[in-house]
Amino acid sequence: MSHTLSTYKSSAGRTIYSFPVQSFPQLATNIYVIDDGSQLILVDCGSGFERSNKDLLAGFEAISEAKAVPVSLKDIGLILITHGHMDHFGGLPFVREYTDAPIGIHQLDVRVLSHYEERRIVAARMLDSFAEAAGVSEKKRHDLMAMYLYAKGIYRSLPVQFLLEEGQPVAEIDIYHAPGHCPGQVCLQVDDLLLTADHILSRITPHQAPESITLNTGLGHYLDSLEKIGRIDGLRLGLGGHEDPIEDVYQRIADIRSFHESRLDKVREICQEPKTVAEVSKELFGRQHHYHVLLALEETGAHVEYLYLRGELVAANIDEIEQRPHPVIQYQCV
Ligand SMILES: [Zn+2]
Ligand SMILES: [Zn+2]
Repeated sequence: MSHTLSTYKSSAGRTIYSFPVQSFPQLATNIYVIDDGSQLILVDCGSGFERSNKDLLAGFEAISEAKAVPVSLKDIGLILITHGHMDHFGGLPFVREYTDAPIGIHQLDVRVLSHYEERRIVAARMLDSFAEAAGVSEKKRHDLMAMYLYAKGIYRSLPVQFLLEEGQPVAEIDIYHAPGHCPGQVCLQVDDLLLTADHILSRITPHQAPESITLNTGLGHYLDSLEKIGRIDGLRLGLGGHEDPIEDVYQRIADIRSFHESRLDKVREICQEPKTVAEVSKELFGRQHHYHVLLALEETGAHVEYLYLRGELVAANIDEIEQRPHPVIQYQCV
């Protein structure tokens, strides 16, 4: 990865450094280092894979050059994790080799950091149940689970030292809880800059999964959180967990919302006839491969679930659901 260090100045004169790390072969994650004049605050730390860790060290070398003072992971005073996804927190055991700085995350994602081994197995089981009800064959489910567990990386559980709670600023950084993409997703406001993490991204619409797999995710929570973030006044720039800065956070929120509205319309159209989630997914996304099969299924599941929870879709094969222990559910518009 080319070490493109970006530097942002907040309205109150705080500096935010940003650089990407290659967290997975196909995915770059943005790391942020907030310099408030008294300490350095690390926001997210990559996946923990070798390449990601290397990029993290190189990012600090680039900051050293920019500041004309040597700084390293040893100089970090606080570590904030924006949410419990591997590409954002997986590097914590590596960072711990350099610093004992306290780690903070939202309460609803604490378990992912501190009880990871248990969480990984339970989450895989919940995902498998979802895929089964969605109409994915046993062989395909086996492949999906193998990919899922691989993407869960090489992390080992670590204790969390403090919580990121809405309404309780940390180092004068305002915290907003934005559940949806992840249960403990937070956005961090540094004066007129908002670190939007994976809640709002400049190009792609952040990934959605059904709350039947993980509570406090799901499209309904996500859209509520979009509205909440849209009510913060005076944001000049959004800095996402991936991709480029968001020039107009408010416009981007409106665009993401209308994107989901049109996707919901497509699901309504497709479900004029009874359809399984796997069938809806194929109509929405076409034939997908590798990890994208899983992403497409989850994204579809989130939209189907949103309409089902609101009484717009019903289960069409109710006899089968009543009689079989693990039925595939067909959804239809009322
Ligand atoms: Zn994420
Ligand atoms: Zn991410």
